[in-house]
Amino acid sequence: MKNQNEGKWEKRWHPLREEWVVYSAHRNSRPWQGGALIKPKASIEYDPTCYLCPGNARIHGHSNPVYKDVFIFENDHPVVGMSAPEFVSANIQTGLYKKESAKGIAKVVCYDPRHNISLSQMKLQNVIKVFESFQSEMIAFENNPAIHSVLIFENKGEAVGVSNPHPHCQIYATDFSFKLVGQQIRIANQYQNEQHKNIYEEIIQNEKKDDVRILAENDHAIAFIPFFARYAYEVMIFPKNHHQSLISLTPAELAALTGVFHQVVRRMDLNFQIDFPYVMSVMQAPVDGKLYPNFRMHLWLQPPYRQPGLIKYLAGPEIGAGNFMADTMPEDKAAELRNINLNEYTLER
Ligand SMILES: [Zn+2]
Repeated sequence: MKNQNEGKWEKRWHPLREEWVVYSAHRNSRPWQGGALIKPKASIEYDPTCYLCPGNARIHGHSNPVYKDVFIFENDHPVVGMSAPEFVSANIQTGLYKKESAKGIAKVVCYDPRHNISLSQMKLQNVIKVFESFQSEMIAFENNPAIHSVLIFENKGEAVGVSNPHPHCQIYATDFSFKLVGQQIRIANQYQNEQHKNIYEEIIQNEKKDDVRILAENDHAIAFIPFFARYAYEVMIFPKNHHQSLISLTPAELAALTGVFHQVVRRMDLNFQIDFPYVMSVMQAPVDGKLYPNFRMHLWLQPPYRQPGLIKYLAGPEIGAGNFMADTMPEDKAAELRNINLNEYTLER
């Protein structure tokens, strides 16, 4: 059968990064033969050597409580710390080379006491508890004058460098602004000034109009592989109402956002019958007390696989020049995930 994308060369503008993404889907026409390279997830519910399992000792003499659902603690190896030493040059803002102390708080969020489960396998009500804990953390950080920005992120799977399968994510609360959020704020402000429209609302409306890349939707949230996706299974998930962070979502909105997320990760797992790896970032405006009316919070999933065992390696164009060469069309990957029957999901525990 002739691949419908054979000979397709196309570039699409990425409005949130202001760069071209190049699609040459004919390069990926080899059929998927099966997941020989995929290791099954650890089958034990409790691992005595895991530093995230309940009751186990961590380094520096701390022990985990015998927790029952979500458990959050400050990272024993933080990348940023509130007691970071001050530099003499801290206030010198002139000159090309400058350095300052990296102040902040790094936390680990364990989703579940069970070592061998994932967000997709957990019951929705328990995943909602995880997202409620994100919101509670955000409220605390908003009330901490030392914190400027918060990044909540999950690296899932060995394919993105995670050796411990215990389901968890991390929070970096910092005294600086994260680059991609800052870039989106600038671009969203510029779009509002020039077009008198919200850029995220435009993206959502375009996705609804095209109606081929939407993966899940309910009253308060929507998920899609965007028109300008760089990774094959890249997904953006938005609350339908305008929120600059998780803080202002109502309980119903937070549950709906979680529900859409849950459907998406189950579709990903069912598609190749594996625990599908991804990097998820919760994109939120800074919590520095200012308003960012043109920015909209969203969940952003960037899975590294084009198919199991086939990583999208970043090379010359991506690393050397900053433009992505995509090997698949967003519509084709969305069609795969849209065709999944969620009733076939049997791994819920
Ligand atoms: Zn564990």
